[in-house]
Amino acid sequence: MPLPDRDRAACSRCGTAAVYLQRVTGRHLCAGHLAEEVEARARKTLADDGISLAERSVAVALSGGKDSTVLLSLLHGIARETRDLDLVAVTVDEGIAGYREETLRAAAAITARLGIAHRTTSFEELFGEPLDRLVEGEESRACSLCGILRRKALMVIAREEGAACIATGHNLDDEAQSVLMNWLRGDRDRLLRDPLHHAGREFVARCKPLREIPEKEVALYGMIRGLFSPMPECPYRHTALRGEARAMLNAVEQRYPGTLERMVEGQRRLARVAREPAPPGQCERCGDPASGRICQACRVLEGVAFRTARRP
Ligand code: SF4
Ligand code: ZN
Repeated sequence: MPLPDRDRAACSRCGTAAVYLQRVTGRHLCAGHLAEEVEARARKTLADDGISLAERSVAVALSGGKDSTVLLSLLHGIARETRDLDLVAVTVDEGIAGYREETLRAAAAITARLGIAHRTTSFEELFGEPLDRLVEGEESRACSLCGILRRKALMVIAREEGAACIATGHNLDDEAQSVLMNWLRGDRDRLLRDPLHHAGREFVARCKPLREIPEKEVALYGMIRGLFSPMPECPYRHTALRGEARAMLNAVEQRYPGTLERMVEGQRRLARVAREPAPPGQCERCGDPASGRICQACRVLEGVAFRTARRP
């Protein structure tokens, strides 16, 4: 049960009832000041990345979940101020029964509410089969396949829309989990890759305006702004290494506040001191960025085509 206002700690900035203790700084924040700080950090990240939204059209990856809904709403707020910002929300239906239907409805509802153009596509439309079919019999690969093909789908639509940048809703927790997963997998290339590197002229750049903001603050911001209600969780969520990375980091962050930030910053420093990795080459099949001759998406789809041909 929420505490009555008189029993709550006071906001460190204005003295009214606080809704959140920011453990890293030791400050209590009221709803208004928490929302203000979340918005300010997203704007600063965009500015730090050199993304001048006023000059760019942005494709916003919108799953219908909390992070992407918050991202869309934040960018919409900035768009209203700059006026000439061109936003299009892009939703990819991976084809996950019992989970996607509700988030797709939520994505359609928020774009209609904000009056933002909305493109939808699906794995079935682009790659021939829904994710549920693509991973039949090897469900433990669901998240890695899903991530690779979703990136590909977003790139296809962003190009069709003439977008200069794809914005995704990754938050600080996601970024720290990725760093830990790269360590756990011994993925030297990803550990040394500059995460702030943007694609060159030929590819659509990517940006993550929420990457400095903890998941908890993104969720609270969404509640304060009345942006979403609880959503079902993806049934494949527990097959991913990410789930274990999340549990480990949450436990460490609880005992040592600031661990997530230090982890992400440490990786960036590592990437800075490492030699500049060679720029990505192009996939021989589809022309997208690839570290080898063929990109990951084309390799996955080749396997799918082979398995589909052998199906009775
Ligand atoms: Fe895709 Fe995995 Fe996320 Fe489910 S949990 S939507 S399978 S990446
Ligand atoms: Zn306040």
